[in-house]
Amino acid sequence: MGSRSPRPARPIRSGRYPAKELCSQCGLCDTRYVAHVKEACAFLDQQLTQLEEQTHGRSRESLRSGSLAVTDTDYFGVYEAMYTARKRDPIPGAQWTGIVSSIGMKALTTGLVEGVVCVQADERDRFQPRPILARTPEAVWAARVNKPTLSPNLSVLEQVEQSGLKRLLVIGVGCQIQALRAVEKKLGLEKLYVLGTPCVDNVSRAGLQKFLETTSRSPQTVVHYEFMQDFHIHFKHEDGSVEKVPFFGLKTKELKDVFAPSCLSCFDYVNALADLVVGYMGSPLGWQWLLVRNQRGQELLDLVWEELETQPVISQGSRRAAVQQGIPAYDQALTLPMWLAQIMGAVIERFGPRGLEYARFSIDSHFTRNYLYVRRHYPHKLEQHVPPFARRIVEQYQLPQD
Ligand code: FAD
Ligand code: SF4
Repeated sequence: MGSRSPRPARPIRSGRYPAKELCSQCGLCDTRYVAHVKEACAFLDQQLTQLEEQTHGRSRESLRSGSLAVTDTDYFGVYEAMYTARKRDPIPGAQWTGIVSSIGMKALTTGLVEGVVCVQADERDRFQPRPILARTPEAVWAARVNKPTLSPNLSVLEQVEQSGLKRLLVIGVGCQIQALRAVEKKLGLEKLYVLGTPCVDNVSRAGLQKFLETTSRSPQTVVHYEFMQDFHIHFKHEDGSVEKVPFFGLKTKELKDVFAPSCLSCFDYVNALADLVVGYMGSPLGWQWLLVRNQRGQELLDLVWEELETQPVISQGSRRAAVQQGIPAYDQALTLPMWLAQIMGAVIERFGPRGLEYARFSIDSHFTRNYLYVRRHYPHKLEQHVPPFARRIVEQYQLPQD
């Protein structure tokens, strides 16, 4: 499987996808559930607070104590427990250590569910997503590793209905899960489990090609990449070598229009409506970050708990000055010469925010950028689209007045 001949992305026909250019291609509108798009689409009707209540029995808003301070619940959503963990025996070829794939496989082999919605890759292009309804552990295994492009995961919902299965696990990112939660009661399921990942800065297939060509020394051999907690992008190549590019060396001017408009206007980085979230950004390099949001999330985690090693969640350093300085730098598309970017990357890796403070750094940087994007491009949506917790986070910073 190679990445040399990307297929063109599915065209977004505005008639079919009511969110138009803000459509993240979550897949809902490829099914008969398009009938509910006005209430379900994350970009037409942001309703995280109501859906948090529906899903977890409490929301970020109901958990506020009356103090004006920004809380960890504002940042990370409703959660019962948080862990830093990794598999003792990692899955080869997984994005991190394969906790997500392991849970998906175990959920099938133990009979907890009868099917798993996950994303395999197109056989000609490893970065082109192909959502499937997996009925065997082998099919979940074959879906391991991120396809770092917009993926129509919900397009298989009709297949779920036709298959008649009653217990389902869905693996997905925030915009997919918001739409799923909005139509959940219409799916005829007895039990739905949701295993989410955080997600940010996703791209169309064409956008990914531009990103790789602008940023990597060998775009055609990249098999895997991640924006890491050491403030570098790690590109893994076919020969096993790892190329590290400092965030501060990114060609911001050329990359500004690469990210999908949906992702530039998203405030659900941490997948607030999943039962269990598995990411990395709140944990030290090499470790995964787990948020158990409710009892169903705990059931999912219990499936693999014995296979994990854990360590305490940490939070070190201070993000505030770096986020504030980054706002005008991004706005003006400043790019440092590579030697200076390397030095800055090394310094900030040594002395910069770690653990949960790194996660807050990333959330603050993306929410301030996205708030400005919505204010500039969709001012009429600003009031309804930006959730209250995101406003509280953004209000910690001084934004340009334009
Ligand atoms: P694996 O066992 O390798 O499984 C990966 C799973 O991801 C598979 O089950 C597959 O079905 C699913 N998947 C693959 N591509 C997609 C897609 N395009 N849409 C939906 N599901 C998909 N974590 C952070 O902490 N911070 C981030 O900024 C962040 N950004 C992400 C952006 C994207 C587009 C994605 C897909 C994930 C992101 N994550 C982020 C999550 C992180 O990269 C890992 O996916 C997660 O930690 C799980 O690792 P794993 O080894 O357990 O996954
Ligand atoms: Fe439809 Fe999903 Fe696109 Fe919204 S994001 S228009 S629900 S496909």
